Amino acid sequence: MRRRDFVQQAAALAALPVAGFDGPTLTRRASSPDTPRVNGERLNQSLAAFDRIGRTAGGINRVAYSPADLDGRAFTLNLFRQAGLTPTIDAAGNMLARVEGTQAGLKPILIGSHVDSVTDGGNFDGPLGSFSAIEVAHTLHDRSLRLRHPLEVVVWQNEEGGTIGSKLAIGALTDADLDKVARSGKTIREGIGLIGGSVPRLASAVRRPGDIACYFELHIEQGGLLEKAGRQIGVVQGIVGLRWFEITVTGFGNHAGTTPMDQRQDAMLAAAKFTVAVNDAVRGEPGRQVATVGRVVVSPNTTNVIPAQVVLTVDLRDLDQGKIEHFTSEFERLAREIGAATGTAFAFRRLVDSEPALADPRLMDGIEASATSLGLSHQRMPSGAGHDAQEIARIAPMAMIFVPSVGGISHSPREFTRPEDCAHGADVLLNAVLAADRA
Ligand SMILES: [Zn+2]
Repeated sequence: MRRRDFVQQAAALAALPVAGFDGPTLTRRASSPDTPRVNGERLNQSLAAFDRIGRTAGGINRVAYSPADLDGRAFTLNLFRQAGLTPTIDAAGNMLARVEGTQAGLKPILIGSHVDSVTDGGNFDGPLGSFSAIEVAHTLHDRSLRLRHPLEVVVWQNEEGGTIGSKLAIGALTDADLDKVARSGKTIREGIGLIGGSVPRLASAVRRPGDIACYFELHIEQGGLLEKAGRQIGVVQGIVGLRWFEITVTGFGNHAGTTPMDQRQDAMLAAAKFTVAVNDAVRGEPGRQVATVGRVVVSPNTTNVIPAQVVLTVDLRDLDQGKIEHFTSEFERLAREIGAATGTAFAFRRLVDSEPALADPRLMDGIEASATSLGLSHQRMPSGAGHDAQEIARIAPMAMIFVPSVGGISHSPREFTRPEDCAHGADVLLNAVLAADRA
């Protein structure tokens, strides 16, 4: 399609009324009347129907490769078909559909998320982005609109088990990784077979740098920033990098009754001082960096013995790798100081290191402009949680759209995003795709 034709079609799309959208719960701010929108009611109906799959007394249980996950995937494949798409399952087990574009030689615009859940989770983490991506394609199909670029809708498998489907899509998993056991009790290797993938053909599912024009993922925020700020859309600046340390503090176990206070090498006391020092250091500088001492194992863990050893973990995250390096050396310096003052020794070991994945500035601008034209308030923010988008960022420009989580709650049966916010997110996704297609 030539550019002018496309613009005309987009204008025609915008002029069409979207049946059933103006329900009582869906409010619109002043916005440009020619901004296209998805069918928000249809999207919310799909989400409501999906809520019944894997629902147990504890919450939503659609952990990857479980029977409920298989049911959820069957439901999703059906949604693809209702949207006029022809879904396939790639060798990695990701569900995919492609609509060819009008201009030859362009790489696809990829949109999607995941539909698996954590144990006792909610219905919005993943399904919102997946169903919105399908809804975007459905809206374009309803209006007989085609993009210049091919449009690919993807639902990644096993996101909650460590972004497995998207890692497979960039060739980031080793053969040994496939033998890791997922929460369902099945190995990833077994799971891939179970969901229609093919381990021997995994290479066929791998995308290379340059294969994808760009990737968008809509997701619930899973935090409370947007709600607190009263904003409708989060423009994600990137997914924070993460560093996990395991720190062993070694002191000297001795009698709690006979050892004078000034002659102790108390590993627990040193660990406690260090925990406070980490918190003070991170809070003492401007920025959104976070650090958590989340696990403490004391030995001998006995009432009448001075603790001889403590093993603790620190989880450190920020969007800026420089800050992660800075706080790493800061924690090491604090450990030396506290060790010297308490007669203990600190040994650091890195458990996990993942670099920040930054969103593409032009795609962020497109999301922001889309939100503005829809009359939606927005703000830029980092993602503190991991997403499939962080893997795709290694091979293509990516961006993410956040919508508010009520109470900032996620990975919980109380996870909830209001229907109007779900629709707003999908509207922004549609317009961000249209903007990227024009660019
Ligand atoms: Zn998710």
